[in-house]
Amino acid sequence: MHITILGTRGEIEQSAPSHAKHSGVLVDETLLFDLGERDYLDLGAKIAFITHLHPDHAFFVTDPAAIDIPLYAPEEADGDVQITVIEEPVTLGPYTVTPIPTHHSVKVQSTAYCIEKGEEKVLYTGDMIWINKEYHHLLEGCRLVITDGSLVRKGGRVMRDTETGKIYGHAGIHDLIDLFAPFTEHILFLHFGSWFFKDVEASAERLRALGEAKGVSVIVGRDGMAIETGSL
Ligand SMILES: [Zn+2]
Ligand SMILES: [Zn+2]
Repeated sequence: MHITILGTRGEIEQSAPSHAKHSGVLVDETLLFDLGERDYLDLGAKIAFITHLHPDHAFFVTDPAAIDIPLYAPEEADGDVQITVIEEPVTLGPYTVTPIPTHHSVKVQSTAYCIEKGEEKVLYTGDMIWINKEYHHLLEGCRLVITDGSLVRKGGRVMRDTETGKIYGHAGIHDLIDLFAPFTEHILFLHFGSWFFKDVEASAERLRALGEAKGVSVIVGRDGMAIETGSL
């Protein structure tokens, strides 16, 4: 699969030249994952899958738009945007896209997507804390995992809603490496939080070293980065 990383900046004020846009990943110029920016709609994708309805993943939540490609998400949105709620795998030509529920927010539902084409499998998680064990078998044999670089500190920032008992927030990068290393050799981080922007070069170096310590290759996402999963 040919993957283009469209945006690597989290929901923060800070920005850097290669980390200015919000979340979006394009697969084979056909499938779009997250719509953090309106202009991702101009790339000719045939269909879009949204991980969750926060505006840095779904710009139309705060900036109404007419969207003329099919849109899948874990829940419907307010307003006029037509969304198909995804609960089961969707097959489109050579691709199968399987939703995998994630823990991230109390207010919105969130899901990761496992994208399969032939023998190749890629996981894109969006923002997250954790994926329940019952789904871990779906992660086996991922060529690449693309996940949440919001927080570098161990444990991330995880809170518990007193009413529902549900957890919300973001895991730390250490935790995500621990979670995904048994299933993949390559983890790409994006959706960077403010920690990353203090010194972009040093932060990228730190990320790669964290991967090395756990025996996985960590790829530091950049806006516009292209990856051929077959050559990883
Ligand atoms: Zn979010
Ligand atoms: Zn986000």
